[in-house]
Amino acid sequence: MHKSITATQAKNKKQLSHTKVVTRFAPSPTGYLHIAGIRTALFAYAHAKKHNGTFILRLEDTDRERFVPGSGKEILDLLRKFKLDPDLYPTKNQLADMEAGKFQGYGNDWMLHIDEIEKIQDEDFTNVFVQTQRLPIYHKYVWQLIKAGYAYFCFCSAERLAKVNEEKKKRKEPLGYDGYCKRHYTIDEALDKIKKGEPYVVRMNVDKATELFGQSEITIKDQVVGDFTFDFKNVNDQVLIKSNGIPTYQFAVVVDDYLMGVTHIHRGFEWISSTPKQVFLYKALGWDIPKFVHLPIILDPSGGKLSKRKGTVAVTDFLKEGYLPDAILNFLMLLGWAPKKGDTREVFNLNEFVDLFSVNDLNKANPVFNRTKLLWFNSLYIRNKSNDELLEIFKDWLKETISAENKNVIMSQMLQDNALLDKLMLVKERVKTLKEMYEMLIFFYQEPTTPYNFKDVKGIKRYSTMTLYNALQLYMRTKELELEKDMWVSRVRDIADQFNIKHADMFMLIRLAVVGSPISPPLY
Ligand code: GLU
Repeated sequence: MHKSITATQAKNKKQLSHTKVVTRFAPSPTGYLHIAGIRTALFAYAHAKKHNGTFILRLEDTDRERFVPGSGKEILDLLRKFKLDPDLYPTKNQLADMEAGKFQGYGNDWMLHIDEIEKIQDEDFTNVFVQTQRLPIYHKYVWQLIKAGYAYFCFCSAERLAKVNEEKKKRKEPLGYDGYCKRHYTIDEALDKIKKGEPYVVRMNVDKATELFGQSEITIKDQVVGDFTFDFKNVNDQVLIKSNGIPTYQFAVVVDDYLMGVTHIHRGFEWISSTPKQVFLYKALGWDIPKFVHLPIILDPSGGKLSKRKGTVAVTDFLKEGYLPDAILNFLMLLGWAPKKGDTREVFNLNEFVDLFSVNDLNKANPVFNRTKLLWFNSLYIRNKSNDELLEIFKDWLKETISAENKNVIMSQMLQDNALLDKLMLVKERVKTLKEMYEMLIFFYQEPTTPYNFKDVKGIKRYSTMTLYNALQLYMRTKELELEKDMWVSRVRDIADQFNIKHADMFMLIRLAVVGSPISPPLY
């Protein structure tokens, strides 16, 4: 469904200055946000803030088949939760229209309205940060490319494309479109076909690369990767506008980055192969080329890309497991960045990171996602919170976990417990995540439900059941004495000695009996 473009979005116009630093985070709302995405956002945010620049969130929803409802809003919420608030971002209305599949402008009939589209002002879309809400802008610029010969209409059917590839395969040639339509139709002939209702796409005319760059090979400078060269000789004529009128990533990203005044493009290394085609488009449109910052791919410790088959990767899952956003951020800072030589610090809050940040300190080596290190940061951040802060954080976590996992009775009890703070303080120094904190406190609210198999516990299993039973019996009597801590400790040791039980094992035995678990707050 398309709305008419006469309802332009000229309201709240805000002119971006092209001289200041502007960075963006441009995810596609196609599901969960990957932890590597937050790293990209963190670096882009820090880069902008370091130079008092602007940080933009733009949702790239051109692949509507992969669109996942709710994921755009979730990304914005997560950025805020991590304190990476974008300065410019999609409005509620833009998000709602994206969700509803209500696009701005025309669909596959766009070319029939080109006279109207040509009159559109870029400023009418200055504050629109969802790509399907910016369609007229792409149509306007692709038409410029077509008129200048850098792009052309293509009417080839899927069957024809398949046949071309089949023949190429036989001849052992690289696959891809053969450029038939650019050789067979003038613009006027193409327009006649469009008026008759034939479906069409627009393709980029790569033959023009040599004319644009003086040769088929170009060298691109990346701020992290360094110089890399690319040869347009064997490149296909990439589709810029699909038959439904929606642009491809390749085209929309260029138009948007330029019009939004983006000076530095931060994104994962996996996007670097599309960069030359984007440079082609910048050149063809006569636009300055921004700086590229391709961040190295984060590796799983077992090798290969970080993947969900090997452990948590979705940002929301890390939060559910009880990681704190600022601990995650600190961990991510060091995945591709390090402070200047000689500075051995590892612990930085966001402001300190922004202060220290320089693109020159980004490292092109692939960082490894060390989960033990992440746990270390998380326990450090938990310990460093004031008790009151931690109480708030823990309560928020409980609330969110309850709503995500529907009714959890113990969690609800914890939330209502006026003495929760005292209990938190008992375990604060011992836990690595909020979830562990919750697990360690469960016994305050619920008697052990299943008898713990004492014999499963290392140490304990060396004693006979009778010995353990008798030792506990004796201890039960001690309990009534209500001893001071030191006295209590020496009494427990005495009992252990009587039964030839190691001291540590005796404490464990009591813990198992009281808590029903081998982990608990300090026993006394
Ligand atoms: N939309 C792309 C993504 O999903 C962004 C690539 C880029 O930043 O240019 O990550």
